[in-house]
Amino acid sequence: MVIENEVPGDQTKRAQTDESLRVERAEADAAVEQKREAVEEAADGVVKVARELADAVTERARALADAGSGVAHLQPREDRERQQADDLLEHERARADALVKQEREHRQRYLTDFLLAEREATDKDLVDERAHADTIVAARDEFLATVSHDLRGMLSSLMFSAELLVRHAPEGEAGDPLRKHAGLSKRVLARMNRLISDLLDVASIEAGKLALIPERTSIDVLLGDTLEAFGPIAAAKQIKLAADAETLALRVEVVLDPGRILQVFANLISNALKFTPEHGRISIRIYPEAESIHVAVTDTGIGIPADALEAVFERFHQVRSARGGLGLGLHISKSIVEAHSGRMWAESELGAGSTFHFTLPAVREGSPRDRAPASAR
Ligand code: ADP
Repeated sequence: MVIENEVPGDQTKRAQTDESLRVERAEADAAVEQKREAVEEAADGVVKVARELADAVTERARALADAGSGVAHLQPREDRERQQADDLLEHERARADALVKQEREHRQRYLTDFLLAEREATDKDLVDERAHADTIVAARDEFLATVSHDLRGMLSSLMFSAELLVRHAPEGEAGDPLRKHAGLSKRVLARMNRLISDLLDVASIEAGKLALIPERTSIDVLLGDTLEAFGPIAAAKQIKLAADAETLALRVEVVLDPGRILQVFANLISNALKFTPEHGRISIRIYPEAESIHVAVTDTGIGIPADALEAVFERFHQVRSARGGLGLGLHISKSIVEAHSGRMWAESELGAGSTFHFTLPAVREGSPRDRAPASAR
């Protein structure tokens, strides 16, 4: 079963689109809010003017009523007139308030509709932009897959030709130059093949589609395969590659993608071999922890400066330019470990060596990971 893990990566494009649309929406909301405030201010202005007018009318009515007899000695007729003026004022005020209320409700309804329409337009833009970004990513992935498939096909035929040259080279010294050049071609072709795989892996990680094919296996099987594959290369460089006795005796069941985890081991050990001088040592320790299996690969190599310990896991990051590398291996390894819900980090002392750690979730009896074949989350 192939699982596509949601590895955070090149959904960056999508995130950027979302972010720009969020900003757009916030600006639209702010503009609408500004309009709403302006309308309310205008409405308040109308009320104020209406009130001032009504107050002026009352003042005038009162002044007229008071004019004849003086405020201190009001007669019943004058009281009535004053009462009428007050009633008139009350009526005028109520009418002005009702008008303003009506106007306000009308404006509010208009603004709500306007805001809704704005929102709908922004949401539609968001969906369109997202679909557009997805189409671009899908087209890029398809292009990459086609080109790399073709390139791999060509590399395979070149590899086959080099193999034939070695096989048909004349026996003895006469055939040595041919064997030497064909051997070199094979090594370069293998490196090209690895670079294509790395670029494809990075594209999958960026698209959040790193495929895992999990199965139930035992950690000692993976360790055995790793030691077997790298033992001769280490020996040729006079480097001791070993695992301690507890690690060798460990029998822990795990559910993971063996090919991918072997890729992680291969990356860590080939780096250790690359950066450890002759007669150095590379040791592998594996031990179970409460919730996980802990793997540590330690070398006695040149080490990594403290300020680069995190950056080495970034794409294309190299502390110093390494021959035959692109600075992708650790980024891919970390993504593979994270796709298995594990963690990866490095410790180092310059000139003394480095240790790369990673964890993998342990299989618990009865846990979903205990059922094979299981799927990575
Ligand atoms: P590359 O293919 O360039 O080796 P990686 O991502 O595997 O890419 O490693 C990135 C960089 O991290 C290397 O170029 C190197 O500078 C540093 N590095 C990785 N492993 C080690 C190590 N064991 N010792 C010293 N430096 C290392």
